[in-house]
Amino acid sequence: GERTLTDLNELADEYLRLSYHGLRAKDKSFQADFKTDFEPNLPKVNIVAQDIGRVLLNLINNAFYVVDEKAKSGIEGYKPEVIVNTNKTERGIEISVKDNGKGIPESIKEKIFQPFFTTKPTGSGTGLGLSLSYDIVKAHGGEIKIESKEGRGTVFTLEIPFPTN
Ligand code: ADP
Ligand code: MG
Repeated sequence: GERTLTDLNELADEYLRLSYHGLRAKDKSFQADFKTDFEPNLPKVNIVAQDIGRVLLNLINNAFYVVDEKAKSGIEGYKPEVIVNTNKTERGIEISVKDNGKGIPESIKEKIFQPFFTTKPTGSGTGLGLSLSYDIVKAHGGEIKIESKEGRGTVFTLEIPFPTN
């Protein structure tokens, strides 16, 4: 693909809605809410929009999966929620996908970027999403960071750098 100047707020919004409506269409009992916290006037970045879109879609799908799963486990008062946030930093744009799902145990944090690693039941996860995402983000000179607390939730943050000359 070719790089184009892209508004990450628009891209994130598009994939958030695509994911949400796709999951609801597939499963009438799908339970989750989402929020956005977008920085206004976010500078555009030069990216392969379709590729970064796939990264966002995978992070968002993963997030919806864990909050829906937790909602279905029947915890009283639990509100399944995914929040997508954008920020401008000195070095570039940060975009984060936050969930209040089950979190990622320390013991598997090292493995989740490996191809074919999945904890999903057979047939529902390929284990390729994060591995592919890592490669796409690296190809853009960026980073993926994870913060997670078991039982509380996870935040995946993508850093997409501004071009340097
Ligand atoms: P898949 O979604 O097909 O399982 P991924 O590469 O997208 O493959 O994710 C690999 C694994 O990382 C998941 O099966 C899950 O164990 C873990 N994981 C990813 N995102 C989250 C999340 N938001 N919360 C908890 N675990 C996660
Ligand atoms: Mg996935």
